[in-house]
Amino acid sequence: MYSSSNLLGTSLTQNSLRSITPRRLFPLGGEQNNHLHTTMDVAIIGGGAAGFFMAVNLKLMAPHCRITVFEKHNRVLAKVAVSGGGRCNLTNSFAEVKDLKNVYPRGSRLLHRLFRTFGPREAFRWFEDHGVELVTQDDQCVFPQSQDAQTVISCFLRLARELGIEVRTSHAVCALEPLTGNNGRRRWQLSFASESIRPRTFDRVAVTTGGSPRAEGLRYLAELGHEVVSPVPSLFTFNVPDPAFRHLMGTVVEPVIASIPGTKFRETGPLLVTHWGASGPAILKLSSQAARHIHEREYRFPLLVNWVNTPDTETVAEKLSRTAAAHPQRQLSGVRPYGLPSRLWIYLTEKVGLAGERKWGELGRRNLNRLANVLCNDPYEVDGKGAFREEFVTCGGISLESVDSRTMESKVCPGLYFAGEVLDIDGVTGGFNFQAAWTTAWTAAQAIARTTEETQA
Ligand SMILES: Cc1cc2nc3c(=O)[nH]c(=O)nc-3n(C[C@H](O)[C@H](O)[C@H](O)COP(=O)(O)OP(=O)(O)OC[C@H]3O[C@@H](n4cnc5c(N)ncnc54)[C@H](O)[C@@H]3O)c2cc1C
Repeated sequence: MYSSSNLLGTSLTQNSLRSITPRRLFPLGGEQNNHLHTTMDVAIIGGGAAGFFMAVNLKLMAPHCRITVFEKHNRVLAKVAVSGGGRCNLTNSFAEVKDLKNVYPRGSRLLHRLFRTFGPREAFRWFEDHGVELVTQDDQCVFPQSQDAQTVISCFLRLARELGIEVRTSHAVCALEPLTGNNGRRRWQLSFASESIRPRTFDRVAVTTGGSPRAEGLRYLAELGHEVVSPVPSLFTFNVPDPAFRHLMGTVVEPVIASIPGTKFRETGPLLVTHWGASGPAILKLSSQAARHIHEREYRFPLLVNWVNTPDTETVAEKLSRTAAAHPQRQLSGVRPYGLPSRLWIYLTEKVGLAGERKWGELGRRNLNRLANVLCNDPYEVDGKGAFREEFVTCGGISLESVDSRTMESKVCPGLYFAGEVLDIDGVTGGFNFQAAWTTAWTAAQAIARTTEETQA
């Protein structure tokens, strides 16, 4: 088990959390502090989960910052609204996570380090402290008690309003240019896609533009010297154009081992047969772990299913042999090994040329071996991907090599920060992607707040 006490051993105590939280929220965004500090202008590009979490936390940590969130669409937090089927699975307890690599195919090392400061436990507490009551399901996914993503959105919008954060919708940032003023201070000029919006300059900029399988959107960041890991989709289901298999639509088998032969990619979990092919946690995890491999093969690749979660064919053959000895007069269709669903068992026996009416006692060693083989190594050809309830995340983005892992600051452009899915970090389903957004956003907010203190000193 991925122990949260180990993981969070050096996490914030309630007291240290209080020390970064103002005693009360100033309705005008901490204007009261301005006589003590020079205002620092911070732009956050992207009004999604990471952008709002960073804006709100930065304002709480450094009330003298003047923060503007730029969102290209006419509404903010659109993905939060549709997340988790409209319920927003905003984190996970991580109680069943043995190794972060299993849930973060990309970014696990960085998150392992950052979770010590702001991990799932801190995120849970943050939302509850800010009025979003949470509930942890049996599967360890965490949702708002209201079961409504709107609760999370309302929380962010209320805090942004109370803190005086400026939110500009329909402002698509298209270029970012470093400027050096007469006093040697570096500032950033943001330009917008719409010519009617004049460029604006800021002291600090954070990029929280989320994932997108189109590399286009990251070009202006690549031009600034950041390494971009080519973005490809992750978290998708598999199209299996085999009518007999699709006929099993609605069948769920738990757990199976799904793997891609000739590779290290294999995942265990429930598999669901759909009217287009294969879905369910085992398939989604496989799509995530093997996202790049599958992309390189243009979504055409072989898939092996082990229906009985037992890698050793001989063990399965022996079990079938014992079944045959115990029920020699029973029909093959009447005794289902491993409690397999009836339709699946008939389909598999027919796949190896054995009619359901055959008696177990008549099968012989050769047929039992053939059955064991199809139970352990059932091959399919995948041709294309489908969406998982339209949920997908992006594998790739700004390379973690270009980012300081303690601060989320760009290594090539000081004063520029990143958080959320724009980074080459992504997780499987279960609240892991939002958790990565909260953690990286909080880290960047803390780092920016620290630099503003240094500037004041
Ligand atoms: C249908 C669906 C359901 C999901 N459900 C869950 C779930 O339940 N749990 C979970 O953990 N994860 C879920 N995810 C994944 C999760 O939504 C993302 O990982 C998360 O939103 C990433 O946060 P972000 O702030 O980095 O990006 P986003 O939330 O995508 O926000 C980025 C914002 O930046 C804006 N933007 C982009 N470019 C520019 C620009 N040039 N100028 C200005 N603005 C710009 C975008 O319009 C967007 O509003 C789901 C994803 C989808 C698609």
